[in-house]
This record gives sequence, C-alpha cells and structure tokens, in this order.
Amino acid sequence: MIWNEARECMSRDQMADLQGKQLVKLVGYMYRNVGYYRKKMKRLGLEPGDIRGIEDLCKLPFTTNEDLQDAYPNGMFAVPMSKLVRYGTIDSVSGTERIVGYTQNDLNLWSECMARSIAMAGLSQNDVIQIAYDPENWVEGLGALSGAERIGATTIPMHTDKKKDLMSAIRKFHVTGIIGTPSYLMHMARMIEKKGMSGGLVKAAVCGGTFWTDKTRKKIQDVIGIRMYDIYGMDELMGLGVAGECKCQKGMHVQEDYFIAEILDTETLIAVADGVLGEIVFTTLQKQGIPLIRFRTMNITRINHEKCECGRTSARIDRICNRASDIVYIRGNRILLFSIENALSELREIKASYIVTIKKEHGLDIVDVCIESSQSNELMQSDNGESVKRCVAAAVGKIIGMKPNVYIRENGGTLLYNRRKVTIIDERRY
Ligand SMILES: [Zn+2]
Repeated sequence: MIWNEARECMSRDQMADLQGKQLVKLVGYMYRNVGYYRKKMKRLGLEPGDIRGIEDLCKLPFTTNEDLQDAYPNGMFAVPMSKLVRYGTIDSVSGTERIVGYTQNDLNLWSECMARSIAMAGLSQNDVIQIAYDPENWVEGLGALSGAERIGATTIPMHTDKKKDLMSAIRKFHVTGIIGTPSYLMHMARMIEKKGMSGGLVKAAVCGGTFWTDKTRKKIQDVIGIRMYDIYGMDELMGLGVAGECKCQKGMHVQEDYFIAEILDTETLIAVADGVLGEIVFTTLQKQGIPLIRFRTMNITRINHEKCECGRTSARIDRICNRASDIVYIRGNRILLFSIENALSELREIKASYIVTIKKEHGLDIVDVCIESSQSNELMQSDNGESVKRCVAAAVGKIIGMKPNVYIRENGGTLLYNRRKVTIIDERRY
C-alpha cells in the first residue's frame, strides 16, 4: 500500500518544481530567523533573492557538524522556545552535547514520514505492531510509535531491555509487525533458532538505527521467516523515516517532498552521478524548529532516480555503507570514530588510506588496521614496513587504549570507498 500516493508517486518534474518552491521559501525563512546561517550566506555574498529554484541549491553554503557545535546551544533554532513542543539531545562526535527541538508541525511531519515507511513494509491498520527500542534510543521509538498510530495500527511500545517480555508479548497480542533495531531482530532469531521459540504471526519488521548488512538480513529472514525492511534517518534531520524501503527491497525511498538529497564527491563536494558512492547531504524543506540547508551527514551511499517497480517515483538510496560521525565502545571504552580518523589523517608522511575494522574474537574486541597504498613498495622498502606499522599502531592505540593489529595491503579497496582516507567498519554490529 502507498500511504501518500500524491506525494510518493508524483512525476520527477513535479517533484523538482515542488522542491524548488519549498527551497526558495526555506532560504527566506532561514535568512530571517537563523542569524548563524544568515552570516554564512552573507560571507558568500548571497541574498535570499539569488535562490530562485532547485538549480540554485549548489550556490548555498553547507551546514556541518562543526556549525551545529559552534551554534550550541540554540544558535540554529529558527523559532522561539515557546513554539517548541519537544527538546532532544544528541551526542556529538567531539563528545559534546547538541540540542534539537521540534515544533508540533515538525512532529506531524515525522509521523507522516514514519507512516509512509511503515506502509512500505506492507503494514496497515489491520496490524498489531510492536515498537521495540533501547531505553537510551527511545526518542526513535517515539517517532515509530506516532507513525504506526497514524496508519491506524494497534501498537505495543516496549523497551528492548526486557527481552523475555518482548517475546511473550509477540504471542500474547498476536503481533504481526515489529519496528526496532536489527540487534533486537538478531536476538529474536537466536531465540527462535536455538530455543525453538516461535516468531508467531510476525510477517514484517522495519529496522534501522544501527548498521547491518544484507548478509544479516538474509540470515534473519531465513531463520525466522520475517521480511526485514530498512529505514534511514538522523536525529539532526528529524529521526528515522527520512527514507524507507519498499517491498521491492532495492533501496530506500527518500521522502523528497520534505528532504532534498544530494550525493557529493567527498573531496570535491560536487554532485556525483546516480549509482556512484558519495556523501549524502540533506536539506530539510519543511522543518520549522531547526531547519538545515545542505547538512553534511558524513554518511556514504549512492542514489537512484529511476522509477521503482512498486510505483513510487521518489529517489532511492542504498543502505549507508560508512558513517564517520559515530561513537563505538571498544573493550568498554567510549571511542569517537572521528578521533581515529583524525589520528590517521595526521600521519601525513604516510601516503595511504586505511580500513579500520572492529570485530570480536573469543569474546574480546579486536581492532585491525589495514594500510592501503599504491606506493606500498615504498612503505615496505627499508624494514618490511615495520616502522610504518609501528607508527600507525601507536596513533590508533593512543585513541582506543589497546594495541591494534596493523598490516599493509597493495591498493585495492580504496576506490570502493570513494577515496575516503579512513573507513571504519564495526563488524560486531552485523
Ligand atoms: Zn519502491
């Protein structure tokens, strides 16, 4: 079922026209109400009148995580506190806190996006949906809850720390759909596989909020027979629901009437063609509390503007394959992924890119650092690369509080990651 056919199936021309008109309004709104962004525009000699449609988007300055930190606590707000109905906080990559705020209109927009994503997974008012999130990620649960209620489904909001209760609720309430994290579904698959428990009537699960892979999805789908649908979002933009996956499972449809998605080369910041990996940058078209223009997500993906077999015309993005702005726990230590990236980027004398893999072996967290270089012969020259490896191990070890395994590989995967200097993969999440 398509929840909002008029918006989700409009022609590409109509969508570009709608986005252009909304963008013009947004720029005027930001210029009037957000001093921080007005200054950025002025520095570039830009006036709101210079933006006449979607084709002028590329003239506008980006908004970065650093901007959000600079403007802390409320420099990015476009409305006075009296217009806000909800505050939230986000842990930033530098370890400082950020505040987000929603007007009632923002929350309505969120529930509409969630409703569309839930309908994409084939769930409707005839379903009983369990909403299962960790207590610390409960804000995501609130968005899911409002979307499920909007489509008229019967909802059961629950915390994932009560795993036994979750499984018994599935049977007790004849649950047919789940919205939660992939890790909860993994847990469920284990219970079903190893303890012979039943997944009951559950037919679909909408999962997002953490990384997972097709391998994980296939494993879970095979074990418990539940179709798993991706969902994407960021707290800075709204929350989960910015994009959702339909029954064709060939990418997530972006809610383009609310968000403009650009995919840019990570070095030149110029738009790349459909199908090419790059950083996804979003402009929120209708948010009132903290609207963002060209927000750099640090998320790497690709986009496809072809019409989907499901009938929707909205652009689709792949599951995010890398996220630089993230926090992980390694042997109990809270590590900002950015700090690993920065430490490696500072080793300017080593001409290489790095793939850092965090994994678990015999119950212990292990970190591997692969140095990839087209000049690997030079790196290996004098002492078989030992000094380079020592240097990299020291830089990363200082951040993570333990010795990583370091090895050198002839240039191979670098292009895959769109020339990112550092790619960090947390395999424990898959
Ligand atoms: Zn589709």
